[in-house]
Parts: sequence; C-alpha cells; structure tokens
Amino acid sequence: MYYVVNGVIIFILGLIVGSFSNVCVYRIPKNESIIFPASHCPKCSSPIKPVDNIPLLSYILLKGRCRNCGNKISTQYPIVEFLTGLIYLIICLIYGLSIQSLIYIILSSALIIIAFIDLNEQIVPDVISLPGIVIGFIISFFVPYISFINSALGVLVGGGIILIIALGGSAIFKKEAMGGGDVKLAAMIGAFLGWRYIIISLFLGFFLGALTGIILIMAKIKSREDVVPFGPFIVLGSFITLLWGEQIISWYIGF
Ligand SMILES: [Zn+2]
Repeated sequence: MYYVVNGVIIFILGLIVGSFSNVCVYRIPKNESIIFPASHCPKCSSPIKPVDNIPLLSYILLKGRCRNCGNKISTQYPIVEFLTGLIYLIICLIYGLSIQSLIYIILSSALIIIAFIDLNEQIVPDVISLPGIVIGFIISFFVPYISFINSALGVLVGGGIILIIALGGSAIFKKEAMGGGDVKLAAMIGAFLGWRYIIISLFLGFFLGALTGIILIMAKIKSREDVVPFGPFIVLGSFITLLWGEQIISWYIGF
C-alpha cells in the first residue's frame, strides 16, 4: 500500500511538472517568460481557469477543446504531461526514493522539454543544454554513483561523437544531418550519465532514428529530403539507458 501511495504521488508530481514543461516547450523558442503571463489559450488568448488547467484530466473533460473558443488543444499537452508522469514513476520504481532518482527526474524533465522543442522547431535550446552540461558536471562531485572524471569523459565522448559525425556527415552528404545543438545535448547527457551510458544512449538514438526514418519514408509520410530532428532520438536513447543501462551492458558482455 505504501508503495502504491508513493507511486501515485510521484506520478501526479510528474503530471504537474509536465504541465509546466508544456509552457516551457511553447515559450522558450519564442524567448518569452515561462512565468508571466499565466496560461492562456494560444488561439483566443483567454486566460485558462485553474479548474481547466488540471494536468491530463482537464484535457479529457474538455474533450481536447478550449472552453472559450472551442478550438482544438494540441494533443502535445496531455502527451508531455503523461510522459513526464510515467518517466518519474519508472525512475522511482528502479532507483527508489533516492538522490539519484531526484537528479534523474530533473534531467528527464529537461530532456522532455528539449525533445519537444526540437520536434516543433528543429532547434535544441542552448538555454537548457549549456547550463545542463555545467550542472551535470558539478553534481558529479557530490553524488556517489558517478565520478567527476566519468562526468567529464561523458561530456567529451558525447559531444565528440556527435561532432565527428556532424563534420563527417556534412562533408559526405553536403547537408547538415546534425547540428551544434545535438553536440551540446549529447555533452549534457554525458555529464549526467558518464561515458559508458552516453555511448549506449547515442547508439540507441542512431538505431531508433534510422528505424523511424526508414518507416516514415516507406509509409510515404516523409521523403528522403525531409530532415527528421535527431534530438528526440538522443533523448529516447538516453531514457532507455538511464533506466536499463546496467541490463544492456550485462546483456552485451554475455553476448
Ligand atoms: Zn481558446
């Protein structure tokens, strides 16, 4: 019972943070304040009442439409909220109520915001990734599960791999497959997860990105010329790794 109560509280906490993450996803690319003004409908600008601003629940009760103007609310809002709640819950199931969970929760929220901004705008915001590199490195001095050497190597290996691929890719394909934003994103994840986990994260990211690209081209949703942002796949790879990295490593060693 104790675990169920904890789990529900953590999931709800994730929904609430996810609701705030939506504001960040929407406003950071526009350089708007993430605090003022309060939430309003992007279509009719009418302020959203607290009762209509309950994560997940309000979207369902309002059937995905603004109460004032009736325009559709993007499905991205409930998706971001649910994903945040879900990842918080799984992190705490694996790492318990620990400092490691707390730091992974903060990291995962930053990564969800980055992934959705990249999906929408094809940019990785420096205002998150650059401080993220510094914060990840500083944290490594105070926590038992990652050394500062491992964190520093994570920054160099993560950023370095993407930098080499970006330079090689633009030389071979004459177009930008990956940008500086992806370099900083990989460096940030490396700072938090260390050099082994960032290699696994990027490998999974490449694999899932290529697979998705092939499926989208085969389904004729995208053409070969379309650019599919890589940031969300790095994020997805890092989520899988921060949750199940040890299993992946022992599976690989036993292989
Ligand atoms: Zn409206």
